[in-house]
Amino acid sequence: MLITRRSLTFGALGGALASTFSLPALARAPKLGVQAPGYYRLTVGSSEVTILADGFIPLGTKLFTGDPSAQSVLGADTVKTSVNGWLINTGDRLILIDSGGSGLTDSLGKLSSNLLAAGYALDQVDIVVLTHLHGDHCSGLTAGGQAVFPNAVVRVAEAELAFWSSAENLAKAPEGMKGQFKLIETKLKPYRGAGRIQTFRTGEVVSGVTAEPAPGHTPGHTMFRIASGGAQLLIWGDIAHNAALQIPEPSRSIAYDVDPAMAVETRKKVLDQAATDKLAITGAHLPFPGVGRIVRIGGAYGYVAEPWSQSI
Ligand SMILES: [Zn+2]
Repeated sequence: MLITRRSLTFGALGGALASTFSLPALARAPKLGVQAPGYYRLTVGSSEVTILADGFIPLGTKLFTGDPSAQSVLGADTVKTSVNGWLINTGDRLILIDSGGSGLTDSLGKLSSNLLAAGYALDQVDIVVLTHLHGDHCSGLTAGGQAVFPNAVVRVAEAELAFWSSAENLAKAPEGMKGQFKLIETKLKPYRGAGRIQTFRTGEVVSGVTAEPAPGHTPGHTMFRIASGGAQLLIWGDIAHNAALQIPEPSRSIAYDVDPAMAVETRKKVLDQAATDKLAITGAHLPFPGVGRIVRIGGAYGYVAEPWSQSI
């Protein structure tokens, strides 16, 4: 603000008036203490994409391989890591990609309430498509043994379902991973019982949503490309769990990778493609709403968050 002799004069006059007429004290608004609903809407051509926050999961920095001194840039032993899902309205179908991790920690489980806050209803979801079957992506499918999305068919990659359904894989899995097999069985049960689980390999899963295999993190880990009217959004699932660590240094893997070497190879391939094609990307664990671009900075990659916008 430019302060002039004139504005100073009026300021002084205002002060004099206030003391003459004794204006009432300013009201103090009570603190509200709640976060805003976590959803973020944008259009991709004629499709509407609503990104839904499920909350966050604390991830230990020691879960990541690589130079531990670089991990200290995060400033803590654990980092709050977003868990996001996507609701796609193609006009014909309402598709939810990933269901969040309700029940895993108290800081998760908000995806359903955010879906409602975004103006939709749980029984409007026609299809739930899963990037993979880790608990932070499939746990929101059921609550108390009941299907949270009562009218939905669940679609998952054939290789993913086969891996986690195998008694042989369960038997040879490390002790810490066995619970994951049981969790998946529990979460899929109401849908399986109703004959509402379908598998896919690659290509169009539903009109306007194309599956692209991205194995390594899990055997059937899948990305989805939304394409409409020349606009594109790549939903990359778990290509990176921490943007600050794994995008500049894609060779860092996380302890949850089923095949770490393949996960690294896939991450490098996807980063190269995203940077070359200047693709808009969105990830389950990029800080909510988790939409951005991959750029090349010198010889490395960087993540640039997309500014607030209503379209790609
Ligand atoms: Zn995940």
